[in-house]
Amino acid sequence: MREFDLAVIGGGLVGGALAYGLARAGRRIALLDEGDVAFRASRGNFGLVWVQGKGLGLAPYGNWTRHAARLWPQFARLLADETGIDVALEQHGGLHVCLSETELTQRVAALAMLVEQAGFERYAFEALDRAALAARVPGIGPTVVGATYCALDGHCNPLRLLRALHAAFERRGGEYLPLHKAERIERRGQRFVVHAAGARIGAAQVVLAAGLGNAALAPQVGLDAPVRPQRGQVIVLERVRPFLAYPLSTLRQTDEGTVLIGNSHEDAGFDDSAGTAVCATLAERALRIFPGLRDVRVTRTWAALRVLSPDGFPIYDRSASQPGAFIVTCHSGVTLAAAHALELAPRIAAGDLGADLRPFSARRLSVSKAA
Ligand SMILES: Cc1cc2nc3c(=O)[nH]c(=O)nc-3n(C[C@H](O)[C@H](O)[C@H](O)COP(=O)(O)OP(=O)(O)OC[C@H]3O[C@@H](n4cnc5c(N)ncnc54)[C@H](O)[C@@H]3O)c2cc1C
Repeated sequence: MREFDLAVIGGGLVGGALAYGLARAGRRIALLDEGDVAFRASRGNFGLVWVQGKGLGLAPYGNWTRHAARLWPQFARLLADETGIDVALEQHGGLHVCLSETELTQRVAALAMLVEQAGFERYAFEALDRAALAARVPGIGPTVVGATYCALDGHCNPLRLLRALHAAFERRGGEYLPLHKAERIERRGQRFVVHAAGARIGAAQVVLAAGLGNAALAPQVGLDAPVRPQRGQVIVLERVRPFLAYPLSTLRQTDEGTVLIGNSHEDAGFDDSAGTAVCATLAERALRIFPGLRDVRVTRTWAALRVLSPDGFPIYDRSASQPGAFIVTCHSGVTLAAAHALELAPRIAAGDLGADLRPFSARRLSVSKAA
């Protein structure tokens, strides 16, 4: 049996960020990952570091997201220093574009409600009318009526982020164990034994960060992870000259010039195939925003499955019955990566998630079900 201080199960953006943060805290970490047969949102997402709109219904989530976004510049620099990998962070604001007066009115009302919530640490967002938007973003179509803007929003290259997290983790002495699907977690005295693909990994602490795989693992260590898949599809256009200074919630231009159009929200179970009907709808809306993209060719499309809790907010928990076991899962693993590595990982290492993260316990879900 191989012995470690801590085993992180799941090597996506959540597990990768935590493993890196834990290795920085000086722990001897094993990072186990199932492999390509698993569902892996971290390899199929849209790459936004996104704040605006987050936290309606749970103010602490809005605060945590904003905190993560503020940590991002320092986090990107840290990863570049440790690994030489530039994750292409651009963070000077993002736009949510509206195509009718009703859409804009509803959007502004929702953001106003969000920032007025008790306990919400307010930040500024701007409502832009068509003229103000056109001044920032040339080339918008005639049916665009305006947008909301938040200066904290941005985007990055999520595949480079995943690569950088793994590289930084290994550079800090962490051990990545691919093709190690955790099948069973056993409690032995004060320690855990993870049974994975014929291997046995011993650790004093275990962190479940297996995305959709958490649902099966959590009950084994006295935790609850009622996560479900939600499909999102993305269209990739060929590279064009830079034309867009800000990411939109549904369209962005990467640092390499590629244009990405996203991002559907579908209940399709575990079906992660892409289809033309949904892509046609995404493309139609994108062309209403930027008619100039009409002649730019599509190079590919993909679909991936988000990891969603019943209320859409993260689940961060420490097992009461099996001390040393933790779970971390969320649907914005790019946005929250900086907070996961720099804030959450040290707290896990110390064995306490902290009072401010208590609202993210899965216990809130059983309380709301009972009520
Ligand atoms: C279309 C789409 C667009 C998105 N856009 C954004 C965005 O713009 N911004 C943003 O912040 N977020 C976005 N997200 C969400 C983001 O991608 C996820 O929050 C993040 O990737 C979740 O990471 P994860 O590590 O929890 O899960 P995953 O990436 O699913 O990783 C889970 C890992 O666990 C492993 N695993 C599973 N079971 C086991 C097991 N039993 N043993 C060992 N390993 C196991 C798998 O191999 C996998 O590598 C998007 C998601 C989708 C699908």
